[in-house]
Amino acid sequence: MIPVTSFAGKRVAVFGLGGSGLASAQALVAGGANVVGFDDSTAGLDKAQTAGIATADLRRIDWSTISALLLAPGVPLTHPAPHWTVGMAAAAGVEVIGDIELYCRERRRVAPDSPFVAITGTNGKSTTTALIHHLLMAAGRSADLGGNIGTAVLTLAPPRSGHAHVVECSSYQIDLAPSLDPRVGVLINVSEDHLDRHGTLENYAAVKERLVVGVQPQGTAIVGVDDNWCQAAADRIERNGTSVLRVSVRRPLSDGIYVEGDRIVRASGGSAELVAKLGGIGSLRGLHNAQNAACAAGAVMALGLEAATIQAGMRSFPGLAHRMEQVGRKGAVLFVNDSKATNADSSAQALACFSDIFWIAGGKPKTGGIVSLANFFPRIRKAYLVGEAAEEFARTLEGKVPYEIVRTLDRAVAASARDADASALKEPVVLLSPACASFDQYPNFEVRGTAFRDLVLALPGLQRI
Ligand code: ADP
Repeated sequence: MIPVTSFAGKRVAVFGLGGSGLASAQALVAGGANVVGFDDSTAGLDKAQTAGIATADLRRIDWSTISALLLAPGVPLTHPAPHWTVGMAAAAGVEVIGDIELYCRERRRVAPDSPFVAITGTNGKSTTTALIHHLLMAAGRSADLGGNIGTAVLTLAPPRSGHAHVVECSSYQIDLAPSLDPRVGVLINVSEDHLDRHGTLENYAAVKERLVVGVQPQGTAIVGVDDNWCQAAADRIERNGTSVLRVSVRRPLSDGIYVEGDRIVRASGGSAELVAKLGGIGSLRGLHNAQNAACAAGAVMALGLEAATIQAGMRSFPGLAHRMEQVGRKGAVLFVNDSKATNADSSAQALACFSDIFWIAGGKPKTGGIVSLANFFPRIRKAYLVGEAAEEFARTLEGKVPYEIVRTLDRAVAASARDADASALKEPVVLLSPACASFDQYPNFEVRGTAFRDLVLALPGLQRI
């Protein structure tokens, strides 16, 4: 745990006592703060009390005694409407911050030179975060990962020189971290998403940009410049004196990192160095992963890793569960779990990676369904449709792709494994990439992906990857 000493002797209100909120409360107490926690759910309150955190209804406290309101990242600061605690804090002139802000303040006190890498973007955050961490570990560096990827940042070991903290930041977390100042800031991409929470694309993009605007004076901003927002952001922060390393998977750059075929290249001062080849690395298939890998390469180069070390690290990257996760092989058939693909855009990334696909899709459909995936239909040998979306998807596929309405994942795995095996194709792939939320049949995409993995691993003759 990282004891937060910046509020020692002061009173701090904490709203939202889930994982990261509770960790913040405990870190504040460990640093000497007087914490009062609150949550809408009695389960949250009970958990806090069991953990020794004092609780009180924040509607009834004297806000003039409060130094800061610590909000859990799931609680709305601005959109669709500020949470009531935010209104009370504002009326009393109390600052509203999140756990990443507490981390930054503590780091500036105890180890301002520690290698703190912060990552954001609309897509690819977790993959890039995990890959940067993996590359550092594979190079023999000392590193931890945390933030939005799952481990609350304040539960990590305290910042120290030579020990990297690789931290995934959602836009919500950035919004609550006004002094975010990583040594290496990574902004992968910006596209329309989560507008419910940030109002306009302008506002959303501006929040994401703050992660790289804040990069420390000796630090580096890594910015994927394949969308207009990030391109403009790179130019702006460079004009303000930050060292920027641009990343593109669409065009060669004269100064920056770009991807050409399966090669990641670092260009500067008229010369170009091969950093790594992605060919044959199953965990980094697809152009979207090339973008993540190129950003990760930029981040670890900024921390002094050499090309050969990066190449070796990429080869041993296991990938993340449920994101194009290679589960196993049965004969020539590869089984891939992409349960995280909860919309058509995400499934497009997966469908683009293979040419003979036995596709398991469906669940709780999103607006537009799979109409936008028509370009990929020629790659699909057959579709196996599950969940609520089955009829709608069948109508879209009618006359274009053979399909079977199988309803459930167990029947989908059995039928697709049988057909792929019998196909005599060279590299058939059974791909779960549902293009749907899971909530009609599963509590979340992780449980859905785990169910798929278990069904695949139970197939006779399957070899685990
Ligand atoms: P995040 O943490 O931002 O949600 P993940 O790394 O968990 O991103 O990847 C989630 C899904 O997003 C992947 O399964 C893939 O479909 C898609 N994706 C990953 N990286 C990118 C990228 N760089 N550009 C576009 N889509 C991506």
